[in-house]
Amino acid sequence: MLVNLKEMLTDAMRNRYGVGCINAPNTTYLRALIDAAEEVNIPLVIDHAEVHDPLIPLERIAPDLIGCARRAKVPVAVHVDHGESMNFIMRGVNNGFTSVMYDCSKLTFEENVSRVKAFIEMVRPAGISVEAELGEMPTTLNDTHGGSSASTAYTDPDLAHEFVERTGVDALAVTFGTSHGIYEKEPVLDFEHLKRLREATGETPLVMHGSSGVPLPDITKAVAGGISKVNYYSYLAVESSRFAGEVIEADRAEGRPTFYHELVEKVYVHTKAEAKKLYGAFLNGFEYRRARNDE
Ligand SMILES: [Zn+2]
Repeated sequence: MLVNLKEMLTDAMRNRYGVGCINAPNTTYLRALIDAAEEVNIPLVIDHAEVHDPLIPLERIAPDLIGCARRAKVPVAVHVDHGESMNFIMRGVNNGFTSVMYDCSKLTFEENVSRVKAFIEMVRPAGISVEAELGEMPTTLNDTHGGSSASTAYTDPDLAHEFVERTGVDALAVTFGTSHGIYEKEPVLDFEHLKRLREATGETPLVMHGSSGVPLPDITKAVAGGISKVNYYSYLAVESSRFAGEVIEADRAEGRPTFYHELVEKVYVHTKAEAKKLYGAFLNGFEYRRARNDE
């Protein structure tokens, strides 16, 4: 079922599990991600990032995202990821997306507050949830989000407190050791800093970007420490490609052609299995179905 991000994250926060937020730039990924969520029984956020728009325009993928979300047996939110231009964000809003990340993290604190606050006032009446980011997330080589920042500053807990108070934002992306893209060395998360951020932000769900490449036990620890939305993509995308290469190589070694439709189907099965491992780590031991039935 298609749901609002705020409602989904409120449940995740209350029960200390994390929901994945994963880019779904094609129908193979979309099917793998949602089918895995149904099999594991966990809500999911699927998103379209502004940097993926040249690959597939939002208007082309939106009916697939929203249709699959509506038909899913688990709650699914359809989210604009890293919207920086108002034009892109409004294309998401006008095409039925249920939430938006309005990323003003590169601007000053005051500018970030005023733009996010004004945007929330505009879209909240339409039932759209808003995520913002505070503290510029570093990016690494081959970042699929096309970033270039070398900043290593973590989100300031006092500013995070002020930000959520002044904006009333539905979810806040914070930095405490992750980066976008492919890591050059294994990331080290500052869980003490996460604790301070969690304490400073009251009832606002927190989001961890750059989660792919973080060892799964550390992701679970971050969820236990108060992260409710886990943005994950780069490593999954690389793993699907690695697997496709393995299939093509195995066919070549046996002297048979690789048919595209068969290759895509194998990639779907493999990606779904990988996604299920991720979702298991995000659940942090929580059994989603039982909790829903108990309410
Ligand atoms: Zn991100």
